[in-house]
Amino acid sequence: MKGVNEEYSRLIGEKDAHITKSEAAIHQKEALLAVQAVREELKKKLEQAEVDKHIHYLRSTAEIDDLSRTKSTLEERLIELIKDKDVLWQKSDALEFEQKLRAEERWLQDKEATHCLGCQGHFTWWLRRHHCRLCGRIFCYYCSNNFVMTKHSGKKERCCRECYTQHSAVVERFTEVSDPSAKSDDVAYDIITEKEANGIYDSDSLSQTTGGSLEGEQDTRPLGALV
Ligand SMILES: [Zn+2]
Ligand SMILES: [Zn+2]
Repeated sequence: MKGVNEEYSRLIGEKDAHITKSEAAIHQKEALLAVQAVREELKKKLEQAEVDKHIHYLRSTAEIDDLSRTKSTLEERLIELIKDKDVLWQKSDALEFEQKLRAEERWLQDKEATHCLGCQGHFTWWLRRHHCRLCGRIFCYYCSNNFVMTKHSGKKERCCRECYTQHSAVVERFTEVSDPSAKSDDVAYDIITEKEANGIYDSDSLSQTTGGSLEGEQDTRPLGALV
């Protein structure tokens, strides 16, 4: 009986040891599974990171391409603008020179102008002189029958066709540099009225004429246009 008991105790001890061993093995297995799960997760994250990196790379490349194209376009535009600027400077110089010439010839014209610079019509008591308020040259009523807003007067001023067609910026520049007092001598050159056209005039209007025949093609043409 004692032998059986001892044998039983030994078997129980073996069983306990076996259980302990199994438990340890199970723990190890669980730990291994946990590690594998973490590894899988990390692997997925790594893959995702690589995909993200690739997408980011593609996006950056596209952006760099865009920027390069924009840069090229801007460089081309800059070159165009520099060329335009040079052309404008040349035009500006030419216009300044032209303006200077006109200013120099202006006073001669005031006294000696007998013909309209536009239509060559002869100035008479009824074909009066009119100054272009921009270039100062003298025209007949019809050839100076254009009006532009000028800066110094703030109202529309009479000007010749040439000045009228010039760029507004240039017109403004002419206006700025022209002497506003210079136009005071222009008051006498009034628009001809219907009364005067019909032959009713006084000594004042006669005094403004520079002579010239009332007959002739050049003289009768503007009268016809007036009616
Ligand atoms: Zn004219
Ligand atoms: Zn003009």
